[in-house]
Amino acid sequence: AKSSGRNCYRFFHASMLEKLEAKKLVISDLRQALKNDELELFYQPIYNIETRKIDKAEALIRWHHPAKGVISPQDFIPIAEENGLIVELGNWVLQNAIANVRVFRQNLCPEFCVNINVSAAQLKPEDNWLSELILSLDTANLGANAIAIEITETALMTDRKKVVEDLRLLKEKGVEIAIDDFGVGYSSLSYLQQLKIDIIKIDKSFVQQLGIDSAGTTLCKTIAQMAKNLNIKVVAEGIEDEIQLEMLTEFGCHFGQGYFIAKPAQAKKFETFFHSFKPA
Ligand code: C2E
Ligand code: CA
Ligand code: CA
Ligand code: CA
Repeated sequence: AKSSGRNCYRFFHASMLEKLEAKKLVISDLRQALKNDELELFYQPIYNIETRKIDKAEALIRWHHPAKGVISPQDFIPIAEENGLIVELGNWVLQNAIANVRVFRQNLCPEFCVNINVSAAQLKPEDNWLSELILSLDTANLGANAIAIEITETALMTDRKKVVEDLRLLKEKGVEIAIDDFGVGYSSLSYLQQLKIDIIKIDKSFVQQLGIDSAGTTLCKTIAQMAKNLNIKVVAEGIEDEIQLEMLTEFGCHFGQGYFIAKPAQAKKFETFFHSFKPA
């Protein structure tokens, strides 16, 4: 474009303001949503390839906006993280996941575990969110293996010392820690050992390259091999077809998650799926 730099600047400026306004709107709507019960946790099964059973599921938040319909977490979680509302949202997720896992343990299997996603912004030292987690499990009379947390590599890099300490405590208590979107971040791998990480989740961007791109295939294979050597379990996420599941099984992945097994669904629907599930 031949437009002057000045015009470009103006345009840029206006859209920044618009974005800011849009974000403010999301935040005020989200506060309403928390009050008005517009949020819901969906569940996606995590299939245990070794036992061919489902004894875990990931909780994924959905927002039923009264005017805008269903809003994807990608469109509000990052804004809530910036604003700090994520702390309240994170507590909502925890309390609801605990309520649901109690039902799953009654109706599905006594050892059932729900994975919840935890943002870096929830792990600020002053919030002590992780001790809250332990306390909530105790209050609900649940063992530490009822809830596992999923956290990204980037989250581990913010305020490392405190996060490392807290996660060590969680581990001591017996709460499993999974590294989400593994391979996408840029951190060193030393934390895998330092934190005695239990699980890594191979990012779906790699899984979706299986059989299509040889570098992507090699990455999946290498991650699985490395994890095996370090005694870490692997979840492959974003499995969309049988071939991908077969390849990942061959590579030694322990768990599979993706639309091929089931899409995230409401808790009741997830229970129905669980009861009708037959491994291939
Ligand atoms: P994530 O934790 O990496 O979750 C996996 C995402 O992949 C989910 O998107 C899931 O619906 C989607 N997915 C699962 N299987 C497949 C598949 O086979 N193919 C494809 N293309 N996608 C698949 P979703 O539910 O839209 O969530 C997006 C992200 O939002 C999550 O990514 C997570 O980072 C964040 N998120 C969701 N719920 C929460 C929450 O309760 N708290 C926090 N802090 N973040 C959340
Ligand atoms: Ca996740
Ligand atoms: Ca992920
Ligand atoms: Ca992600």
